[in-house]
Amino acid sequence: MEHKQAIALEIALQTHVMQMCPGHNEIFYDDAVDPSGAFALAVELVRQHKPYVQEFRDDANALTDLLSETLSAAPRCCPHCPSGMARKSEESMALRLIQAAGAGAPLAV
Ligand SMILES: [Zn+2]
Repeated sequence: MEHKQAIALEIALQTHVMQMCPGHNEIFYDDAVDPSGAFALAVELVRQHKPYVQEFRDDANALTDLLSETLSAAPRCCPHCPSGMARKSEESMALRLIQAAGAGAPLAV
């Protein structure tokens, strides 16, 4: 991973917009969390010339762009967690019911 991207990721993790699954060490984007905190922190760090973000050379937009890119590329939940799997199997169950209903009971036209 590029260092700049690691910084964006770190900011997202610090503001809890992105979270690390403790069981699988998978990073995911929690879309229940308002991401504006992460963007505000990113802009603030650049504005204060923190050495941490010196690679962005006072260009807050470069950091916020990278941050939104990082967020949109991340999965919405840990791909290995049972909760994610449960959601997926619920979906396929619903799909099967729809297919069964469609096959067994043709629509009355
Ligand atoms: Zn997990």
